[in-house]
Amino acid sequence: MKKTIKTQNPYSGKTLETYKYISDKELDEKLALAQTTFEEWRHTELEERSALLLDVAELLETKKRTYADLMTAEMGKPITQSIAEIEKCALLARFYAKNAENFLADAIIETDAHESFISYDPLGIILAVMPWNYPFWQVFRFALPTLTAGNTAVLKHASNVTGCALVIQDIFEEAGYPKGCFQTLLVDHDQIETVIKDERIKAVSLTGSEKAGKSIAEQASAQLKKSLLELGGNNACLILGDADLDKYMDTIFKARMQNTGQSCIAAKRYIVVEEIYDEFMERLKSKLKKLKIGDPTNPETELSVLARPDLAEDLKKQVDKSIEIGAELISGNTMDGAYFEPTILTNVKPGMPAFDEETFGPVASIIKVKDEDEAYKMASTSKFGLGSMVFTKDFESARYRISDIEDGAFFINDMVKSDPRLPFGGTKISGYGRELSKEGILEFVNNKTVYINK
Ligand code: NAP
Repeated sequence: MKKTIKTQNPYSGKTLETYKYISDKELDEKLALAQTTFEEWRHTELEERSALLLDVAELLETKKRTYADLMTAEMGKPITQSIAEIEKCALLARFYAKNAENFLADAIIETDAHESFISYDPLGIILAVMPWNYPFWQVFRFALPTLTAGNTAVLKHASNVTGCALVIQDIFEEAGYPKGCFQTLLVDHDQIETVIKDERIKAVSLTGSEKAGKSIAEQASAQLKKSLLELGGNNACLILGDADLDKYMDTIFKARMQNTGQSCIAAKRYIVVEEIYDEFMERLKSKLKKLKIGDPTNPETELSVLARPDLAEDLKKQVDKSIEIGAELISGNTMDGAYFEPTILTNVKPGMPAFDEETFGPVASIIKVKDEDEAYKMASTSKFGLGSMVFTKDFESARYRISDIEDGAFFINDMVKSDPRLPFGGTKISGYGRELSKEGILEFVNNKTVYINK
């Protein structure tokens, strides 16, 4: 007998819904439908596929409050941030509606042939395994370009956001996508293994932790199937001696606290040059004091609970262990259910969880360094490679560091963030492959070489 999935409101602790996993037979039927739909969908005019994106955008915009309420109930995101997430999904749909034709057009390459070019053909059914921290954005970021390229998709979402997972399937159907283009699978980890082994599945995209990434990528590679991995990060945020804190302190703070600290690209390590250290700490403490903490359904709330109580427990262990080996607790580090008090830790050093690992919650880890060189050295002392950011008035000199940064992104005087127009992805244990922009829509296609002589 299979277990059921129970969703729980992390703020109230109340059970929201109970769902049943699908049987292996139902799973097979869904994959069969995805395959049949693919055979037709792949031959649909790109113009038609792109037009549906506008219907998705409109639906998201019209019903944003309903979707945002569900997201907030399932994982505790402050409501204004949930609404913003839905709006960003709509923006992404509009972006690909405008640009997909250009991105997917044959790329002519002059050779000895009469004609030669690359044709971007869809692959088939793509499996997505997604996390709960941005329950809509992560899925749409994958699905919109992947479907527009002519693939069909099946989703295994994080269990705690099963309601969102089902609603997302409804959105595609309500927008007019053929049945079977996008399906949510309520499956457990063992069934995912079956899905990956199924020959109708052509590739896998996973956003999640390193552990899940390794497991899924191993299973995909055993079947010689492509995988794309968007994994964790512990982004460095460098505050150089000349940083303009009047202008950028809000951004610097938001870079750590948004989404209650549960963002892969959050500023997980503040690396601060000693010249500006005291001023930075004063401003950080003052911003923390003013943070509006509480009920995620209240539009005033800026920070609320984590998505599940076990996440708060894990974070507490990381902070406690860091303190045990020399980090200094300035404030915070209490918990209650899924709530984790925003925390400031100083004297953070390599070897501590607060430096080496990803802390997925509102923990500001401060690393004091003597100068700019040491700051950049500390930044790259990480096995993660999602992104780095630097705040300095001398942005011209920061340019010289671009080639030294090994991460997937380097932001000067801004927080690392995603933008539909720019590629997004990591290096090292933060994963591989790119989402968004032209790069994203070309991840799940066959770059077919076509060579024609008269
Ligand atoms: P997670 O525990 O790795 O779960 C992610 C997804 O993988 C969930 O759907 C989960 O399903 C599934 N999963 C986990 N282990 C699996 C296995 N062995 N077989 C099949 N499926 C498996 O991650 P999370 O806690 O949801 O998300 C937080 C992590 O995601 C953080 O590390 C964060 O940095 C990362 N993330 C990265 C990005 C990026 O773009 N790089 C963006 C957002 C988040 P269940 O829920 O059923 O376990």
